[in-house]
Amino acid sequence: MLLYNSATHKKEEFTTHTPGHVEMYTCGPTVYHFAHIGNLRSYIMEDVLEKFLRYDGYNVNRVMNITDVGHLSSDADTGEDKMVKGAKREHKTVMEIAQYYTDAFFDDCRKLNIKTPDVVQPATGLIDEFITLVEGLLDKGYAYLAGGNVYFDTSRLERYYIFNDHDEEDLAVGVREGVEEDKNKRSKNDFVLWFTKSKFEDQALKWDSPWGVGYPGWHIECSGISLKYNGEYLDLHCGGVDNAFPHHTNEIAQSESYIGHPWCSHWFHVHHLNTNDGKMSKSKGEFLTVSLLEEKGYDPLVYRFFCLQSHYRKGLVFTWENLDNAAGAYQKLIKKIAALDPADGPVDEAVVSEYREKFRTQVGSDLNTALGVTALYDALKAKTGGATRLAILDSFDQVLSLSLLDKAAAVREEQKKQKASSQGGCTITGEGDPAVDALVLQRYEAKRAKNFAEADRIRDELKAQGIEVTDLPGGASWKRV
Ligand SMILES: [Zn+2]
Repeated sequence: MLLYNSATHKKEEFTTHTPGHVEMYTCGPTVYHFAHIGNLRSYIMEDVLEKFLRYDGYNVNRVMNITDVGHLSSDADTGEDKMVKGAKREHKTVMEIAQYYTDAFFDDCRKLNIKTPDVVQPATGLIDEFITLVEGLLDKGYAYLAGGNVYFDTSRLERYYIFNDHDEEDLAVGVREGVEEDKNKRSKNDFVLWFTKSKFEDQALKWDSPWGVGYPGWHIECSGISLKYNGEYLDLHCGGVDNAFPHHTNEIAQSESYIGHPWCSHWFHVHHLNTNDGKMSKSKGEFLTVSLLEEKGYDPLVYRFFCLQSHYRKGLVFTWENLDNAAGAYQKLIKKIAALDPADGPVDEAVVSEYREKFRTQVGSDLNTALGVTALYDALKAKTGGATRLAILDSFDQVLSLSLLDKAAAVREEQKKQKASSQGGCTITGEGDPAVDALVLQRYEAKRAKNFAEADRIRDELKAQGIEVTDLPGGASWKRV
């Protein structure tokens, strides 16, 4: 697979430390609020990447953290802890907030067909490991104590900026207006590994450490969790592009200083989703969540389909109109698949593997999901039987995860029911209950045979069940009232 590497700024042939096996890490959510669909764009694209690697024959061990402590309002070490902020807002404990929003996050993932990673680790469950890491960094001279906190000393690194060549002043942390500078830091890029003194009012969760009671910084958790579950050689690290600096930059600094050799060979960053007014999470004051999409009548998979139509390294503009277009295209696609006859077989394996190969090349070119979607339309037009075309689509959907065959089967089932109700030149339309369809048909037959007493008796029986029948030319329709 050819994949863009943000660390080298170019597309590279994807290789792994152990042939055939991928150690993959994903920065997980900070569980203080619902994920907005901009966040979820990253998780969708990372899910497609993982599934593509498996499709390509790799074994994948994918690890994700859940941030339930230490992530302050700014990604640098300033502002209030996001979890504490969430707890105050909802008058709950930090752990209640963490559990509630962790569950909400995985609910969203399920609705979007995002597979749960092999390992999911909440930060609060691994505090001892983080302490060991910080001790190691202090021992090796990469960290220092100041004002009661432990800081990483970026001046010890030959190269700190990995993902960009920007001028240090442009990127320096703590220079934004309204953000107070931490006077304990020797250099403004230094970052907190362990807090014991600052940011303590209201901090609910604290642990004993060699430096006093405190809590870990945000960046150390990803290094700690990845080193524990992925080992010292990470093949692929994923996240939203906003995490590249300072979060991922700091992860590299910590991990490589601790293990003493290069850590992660490939960095995958998903770009932003923006609305027309330039915001990532809101549209006209509405917070964009999966639940909001559902309330407005969208199938969450329409959002997945919408994301797949564009490249992960390009910004994506969200408007309701764009989503409507995606919904229309998705429904049309399902209908076309439903029109294929599964009994039109047998499956021609040679044709299936020919299409699989093409799909691997297309999507394997820097995760080109738009070409993956186009491949679905090509498969529909393949000059082969329905069963073979369905097998090709099924194969592609292992990566795209749009539930195509299930949805098409449901459409086919619905069509079958409607057909079954259409007998003897009479069409019964209703709410899909075969028992009611049968009664309405009996009444129709009775009327046709001029047995009006029987027809009225059935009408009354249906009425007693709360069902209203309307006669139509050539049949009848019914509804529950
Ligand atoms: Zn992370």
